[in-house]
Amino acid sequence: MNDGARNKCGWLKRGGKESCRKRCYGAYCGQHNYQLKKGMKEPEPCRGCGIGVLTGYRLCGQCGGNTVKMRLYRAGKKAKKQFELVLRELQERNEGKARDAQNARRAQNTPVRET
Ligand SMILES: [Zn+2]
Ligand SMILES: [Zn+2]
Repeated sequence: MNDGARNKCGWLKRGGKESCRKRCYGAYCGQHNYQLKKGMKEPEPCRGCGIGVLTGYRLCGQCGGNTVKMRLYRAGKKAKKQFELVLRELQERNEGKARDAQNARRAQNTPVRET
């Protein structure tokens, strides 16, 4: 067997700067291939210090990630409330539109033959 075909698992450990580095034949070792298949995301390096983080904004808590998290959380809450409002408004408008359309159709169909 050719040892050159072997790789070291490139899966970045969460909370560390090291990758897994277990010997494997693909990009990841068996464990991490399995986790990837299960839908787990590989941590990405923090933009500040390079440790593996699973956040979309790629900052660990110590590099300002907590502030971002709080801001996102607050924004998310606000956005949700706004979204619900808009949704309700849309629903009401659609109901109104449907009613209007019905009325318009009725108006267009004149003279209505009543039998
Ligand atoms: Zn691994
Ligand atoms: Zn960091």
